[in-house]
Amino acid sequence: METKVAIIKDIKKDIKFIEEAAEIIRNGGTVAFPTETVYGLGANALNEESVKKIFIAKGRPQDNPLIVHVSSKDISSLVKEVPPIAQELINKFWPGPLTIILEKKDIIPNMTSANLDTIGIRMPNSEIALKLIELSKRPIAAPSANISGRPSPTEVERCVEDLNGRVDYIIGGESSDIGVESTIIDCTVNPPMILRPGGITLEMLREIDSNIDIDKALKSKPSNDLKPKAPGMKYRHYAPKAHLKIIRGKNEKTIEIIKEMLENYIEKNNDVAILTTDENLNKFDKGSVISLGSEKNLSEIAKHLFEALRKCDDLGVQYILCQGFEEKGVGVAIMNRLSKAAGYDIIDV
Ligand code: AMP
Ligand code: MG
Repeated sequence: METKVAIIKDIKKDIKFIEEAAEIIRNGGTVAFPTETVYGLGANALNEESVKKIFIAKGRPQDNPLIVHVSSKDISSLVKEVPPIAQELINKFWPGPLTIILEKKDIIPNMTSANLDTIGIRMPNSEIALKLIELSKRPIAAPSANISGRPSPTEVERCVEDLNGRVDYIIGGESSDIGVESTIIDCTVNPPMILRPGGITLEMLREIDSNIDIDKALKSKPSNDLKPKAPGMKYRHYAPKAHLKIIRGKNEKTIEIIKEMLENYIEKNNDVAILTTDENLNKFDKGSVISLGSEKNLSEIAKHLFEALRKCDDLGVQYILCQGFEEKGVGVAIMNRLSKAAGYDIIDV
């Protein structure tokens, strides 16, 4: 399949590319496009055959439902009911990185919702994404634009790397600012429950309803006794090719242990990358050291996380040693993605 790649430099001057992509969506094709969380791979959410192409292009398991992207806060044509709490969340956080789970209307095919009676909906906060949805005149189902299991793309080059030849169109033009996927909140239960942590934090959501909590199953490695409620959260995900290990604890001790492990791996002729902070960057004199950003700014760490994992693969290292981050604010999402990427290989020191 031939993939066209277009980079939007100026949305007004380059509108023809978005028009072209919108036509592809209307005609049943697939388009990768930027959003503020990560890049998405989109197709007409209301057409089974179109949506199927997303699963095939990504190699995504068919029991993993897709999030439907809209360009308006009025979602009454897609869901049975918008309870007051959901409406409040929409008013407060859309457009933005919050996916809301509601009971779906029959207009949404089972392929999109992976046979669930519910559907996740989000209005992205990206000019290009909103224009694409608006011009295509369809809600767009879009998971992250990576081959299933790989780190999500936050740069257009990574979409091309994964999806060139597998999709019809790739639009670039923005790096993803948030860097981790949307927060998912289930509003079919009372109080609503967070099924995936993301850019909208628990603290922010509790300002709307102090009873909102996070799915307990997200705290540990998924098991038969404790399965996450979002079907996708049970899979190994976001994973680089190298073995990723997380070292978590007090800063000085963490550095000491990372150095020890580093020596050990290098002695055995392994190439090793270290993911750390600006503040710790100079504390390592071996291995490929990459900073995710300042420890004082967890949003910056989130933004750089997936790209850093992909850079480690570019370097061809066998091991990645990454320090843990404090689980508050967006730190909860960072540690969720890191834990999954590491297959829960976490060393507490
Ligand atoms: P992605 O778009 O690749 O970030 O994946 C979408 C995520 O949303 C997956 O983890 C899905 O399991 C989750 N999801 C989508 N729809 C639903 C739903 N109706 N109920 C629960 N989780 C959902
Ligand atoms: Mg994904």
